[in-house]
Amino acid sequence: MTTEQFVQLWQCFGTVVRAHQEHLDDLDRAIGDGDHGTNLTRGLGKMQDLWKDPIDTERNLADLSKKVGMTLLSTVGGASGALWGSALVKAAPVLPSASACDDETLVLWIETFVSNIEERGKAQVGDKTMVDVMRPAVNWLKASTQEGSARLPVLRELARQWSEDTKDLQARRGRASYLGARSIGHVDPGSFSSALWWACVDRVLGG
Ligand SMILES: [Mg+2]
Repeated sequence: MTTEQFVQLWQCFGTVVRAHQEHLDDLDRAIGDGDHGTNLTRGLGKMQDLWKDPIDTERNLADLSKKVGMTLLSTVGGASGALWGSALVKAAPVLPSASACDDETLVLWIETFVSNIEERGKAQVGDKTMVDVMRPAVNWLKASTQEGSARLPVLRELARQWSEDTKDLQARRGRASYLGARSIGHVDPGSFSSALWWACVDRVLGG
């Protein structure tokens, strides 16, 4: 991953989240407070300010991860801003202070921020949260990278399916958990936005 691809990844995420803003709000309205799409769109929109300066050699991947995390922390309301933001800040040291990293480092970076999301959110797979997409996706990416072929278009579809699968789960973490069994039958909004992020990983890094 190069710094340019890093920027493209977050620009892509901003674009697809904005395109799905209403849907994300609808999903959150069903089992939460209806602001997930609005919150993420605002934070990712603010991030565009970060890209205004031309990318120069001073921009390094570690620094970018930290800056993206800080921006999400300060602009996205709700749990998702804190989860994405602090995880990206904490995972930043995994990336080199350089303009590119190899595939193993990329996977380690994603794995580190997913672990941070799990720790901070005290969530694991099956709790009907973003972890239901992020954890299996990074595990799948890690395994396929070790085999020498990260088939990102396949992962993109899997991520979408894992998000869809949260419909059948009862929420055990987050606001939706207050609904108990009534949370069953709705897709978790955080899992849906996470699947959008993996679609951008495919779009930007899959070439
Ligand atoms: Mg919300």
